[in-house]
Amino acid sequence: MSRQIHARRLDGVDKNIWIEFTQLAADYDVVNLGQGFPDFAPPKFIQDAFGKAVSGGCLMHQYTRAFGHPSLVTILAKFFGQVVGHEINPLDDVLVTVGAYQALFCTFQALVDEGDEVIIIEPFFDCYQPMVKMAGGTPVFVPLRPSGGSNPSSADWVLSAEELASKFTAKTKAIIINTPNNPIGKVYKTEELQVIADLCIQHNVVCISDEVYEWLTYDGAKHVKIASLPGMWERTVTIGSAGKTFSATGWKVGWAMGSSHIMKHLKTVHQNSIYHCPTAAQVAVAAGFQTEYERFGSPESYFKQLPAMLNHKRNKLAACLQSAGLQPTLPEGGYFMIADISSISFDSDDSVSQDEPLDFRFVKWLIKKKGLAAIPVSAFYSAEHSKEFQNYVRFCFTKEDSTLYAAEEILKKWGSEK
Ligand code: PMP
Ligand code: GLN
Repeated sequence: MSRQIHARRLDGVDKNIWIEFTQLAADYDVVNLGQGFPDFAPPKFIQDAFGKAVSGGCLMHQYTRAFGHPSLVTILAKFFGQVVGHEINPLDDVLVTVGAYQALFCTFQALVDEGDEVIIIEPFFDCYQPMVKMAGGTPVFVPLRPSGGSNPSSADWVLSAEELASKFTAKTKAIIINTPNNPIGKVYKTEELQVIADLCIQHNVVCISDEVYEWLTYDGAKHVKIASLPGMWERTVTIGSAGKTFSATGWKVGWAMGSSHIMKHLKTVHQNSIYHCPTAAQVAVAAGFQTEYERFGSPESYFKQLPAMLNHKRNKLAACLQSAGLQPTLPEGGYFMIADISSISFDSDDSVSQDEPLDFRFVKWLIKKKGLAAIPVSAFYSAEHSKEFQNYVRFCFTKEDSTLYAAEEILKKWGSEK
């Protein structure tokens, strides 16, 4: 009798948008506004910190404390304690992880049991759904819906409080939110977070808050940590990423923070799987946060300079997309911009199945025929709802001006051909 080789938990989670589209962009000579990573260098102070860490003695090349290098957990606790308005214990309340990805994985593995439901707000960073499933949980989706308007903004995308409330059941274990959101760029307002917080408290549910783009907000939008709302520190796991914070996605240093009664379970997963993250990268990130702590709120702070720089790139990309007839939705945060493609006609190439969603076919055409890479937005939706949202594609603007100019050239040429 033949025996299935793979574990059942892998059923239905084998496809991955980043694997597919990163490969496609690499196969063609494209201007890459697809995968979200800066194509410019991280700031000098953080590069220097890495260099210093690597040449800082033999212990920089050896194992360190399992749950985070002492210098990193100490500064993370000090830095975020002041932001969240709650004392954070560096040893009990912080876990350093291999990027935000591993923080998410530890959280789901630690908290979600067979049969538990996890509420996911759509559109969502794609790995939430497979991670919930691999933990044995059932994802329950609730969509942000655009309210329309002639100058679309991510602020138009809102949750219905009634619809959200209807998703909480006796089986709900957790809800995951992402602010600023990938892919739309929505930055949740305090009132919106309060609705979610009230439901979490009422139903005794944990909130997982993915805040990897926390420093990237525009036009006066303010990032608020749900853990700072009354009664939420005790039930929130807040996730961050040095990759986004310091424009160094390849370093793969992330963290999860929360009350020790939750964090001890994430640590159990971590100690039995990864054990600890690369020592020198942690020491470099610690030095970066120390520098930022000393200049917090000042114009020299990278957490002010980076969003100011990205704001120009955001406005430039929006104008380019408009000139090619695409309708962009201006993001209040993050480094992505979605655009409506419904008014564009294109000839899907023969190698692409007509059964594929419109946005997948469009992006494949854009890569192969126009030399510009983007990401289809329906990939950020559950199978139940993806059909309703296949009119959007996502562009990344954390790119060199020269990359954005090259994209502009492509879009202008295309606009003039139509
Ligand atoms: N969450 C969101 C919303 C993301 O966009 C990403 C992608 N970088 C991650 C988590 C994973 O972050 P990291 O690269 O630190 O693992
Ligand atoms: N977070 C990045 C994005 O949204 C990429 C993640 C990945 O490549 N796995 O583009």
